[in-house]
Amino acid sequence: MTDVPRSHPRYESLMTRARVEEGVRSGLVSMQGLIAHGRGEAFDYLLGEGTIPPAAEAERAAAAHLLLARNPVLSVNGNTAVLVPDELAALQKALRCKVEVNLFHRTEERVRRLAAFLEAHGCERVLGEGAQPTIPGLDHERGRSTVEGIFSADVVLVPLEDGDRCQALRDMGKTVVVVDLNPLSRTAKSASVSVTDNVRRAVPAITREVEALRGDRAACERVAKAFDPARNLRETMDFIAARLRALG
Ligand code: ATP
Ligand code: MG
Repeated sequence: MTDVPRSHPRYESLMTRARVEEGVRSGLVSMQGLIAHGRGEAFDYLLGEGTIPPAAEAERAAAAHLLLARNPVLSVNGNTAVLVPDELAALQKALRCKVEVNLFHRTEERVRRLAAFLEAHGCERVLGEGAQPTIPGLDHERGRSTVEGIFSADVVLVPLEDGDRCQALRDMGKTVVVVDLNPLSRTAKSASVSVTDNVRRAVPAITREVEALRGDRAACERVAKAFDPARNLRETMDFIAARLRALG
């Protein structure tokens, strides 16, 4: 994959695929992660592979919620870890928050590998090993979290989360910020803030918004309050529909 020339029109997309493929080879990403990535790519195509205005608004709202949080936690799965390891470390530093590995297809071995991988990329004290079944309404394996991390978090950023788990975290009273390229997914519909953008663009964008909003609590409160998740998803759908009509 390293022989893809930078000038190739699909350079970013092909290099991103290579990261996921390498992640599977090294035991960081599950086979299912490849399928999830493919679904994401299809939706990214519909967006024009760029951050659309409603996504930029959601990224700002995400930053506001994370800054207002008492205990914000970044929840990381295999795909997210291999796609944005350095960018997650930068966001953790900007928020001084916790990072927890949280897997749908969980094995303790993969949790350990991912924690070590993220720490090698600059994340600090990554949680997730030995997580206990703590999330009500989810079966034993999928309902695991650490008490100091996701269980006690008030705001959780969960890129590429499953719809059920997103809803279960909402039912616990948490503010759940997701990054999901599919605005029709159950995840997007059940989140407090759903960012319809590629995690490769969304995580750095959220970090930039954190830097811009930091120290201005009133602005954070204003931005968080003004965000309407249903309206944002509608605007996202309208954007896609208008773009397809213009192309057709
Ligand atoms: P539901 O949310 O309806 O329960 P699901 O979570 O079961 O659906 P999956 O295909 O397992 O559906 O979830 C993967 C999701 O992650 C897809 O919606 C896909 O669009 C999204 N996704 C994949 N890669 C990326 C990426 N790089 N950035 C953002 N989102 C992505
Ligand atoms: Mg989903």
